[in-house]
Amino acid sequence: MKVLVVGANGQIGKQLTHLLQDHEGYTVRAMVRKEEQAAPYQAAGIECVLANLEGSVKELADAAKNCQAVVFAAGSGGATGYDKTLLIDLDGAVKMMEAAEQASVRRFVMVSAIGAHHREYWSEEIKPYYAAKHYADRMLRQSSLTYTIIRPGGLTNNPGTGHIAAAENIRGGSIPREDVAKTILLSLDEENTFRRSFDLISGDTPISEALSSI
Ligand code: NAP
Repeated sequence: MKVLVVGANGQIGKQLTHLLQDHEGYTVRAMVRKEEQAAPYQAAGIECVLANLEGSVKELADAAKNCQAVVFAAGSGGATGYDKTLLIDLDGAVKMMEAAEQASVRRFVMVSAIGAHHREYWSEEIKPYYAAKHYADRMLRQSSLTYTIIRPGGLTNNPGTGHIAAAENIRGGSIPREDVAKTILLSLDEENTFRRSFDLISGDTPISEALSSI
């Protein structure tokens, strides 16, 4: 299975791209938006495509061509304004869903945020970010794609433990990006996660066991 990683220059995206490259069951195409971001990947023998989530659906569909899965691990980040939140986390995500459908990619894994599915859980400080995540996820659930929506808690750069808690509703918590990347990898072919959404934080259960019993 060839997987397009959207946001492959990001912190989760980089870890996931290397996990996919090292896995015998997958090949990977890293979607980045600048030549200089592609260079280290190309030096490591990893296929890259340059595309921008602010570009056209056609550009994004071309990037996804001949892939069997898309992982959306992009985000506008905390350093930009809410204009970019709207354009990347909401419209960019929805355009990527349309692009996947146009390119006949069936599988789509979304990195969302913990509690995005319940308005009463949204953090007061970053409500517009939660609204963007909420409606992107809602569009994905209404699409024809075989989706998995993963809603991690606060992301850390601590080493992964390989153990998680994954459930429909979890209030608060955090998780290393390494464990999120591994959870995405193991979700790709775990049918129990197909057309399912779940919150994700660090926990006591090995990742594959947690995914098969959500
Ligand atoms: P990150 O390091 O900020 O990576 C995001 C990536 O998105 C970057 O590589 C960035 O590209 C890319 N991107 C931004 N705008 C783009 C555009 N117009 N076209 C193409 N790519 C674009 O994020 P992360 O820490 O890995 O987190 C990944 C996801 O987790 C995000 O969706 C975030 O909202 C979500 N999340 C975060 C937290 C948290 O605690 N921070 C909690 C839950 C969920 P450049 O490298 O070119 O800038």
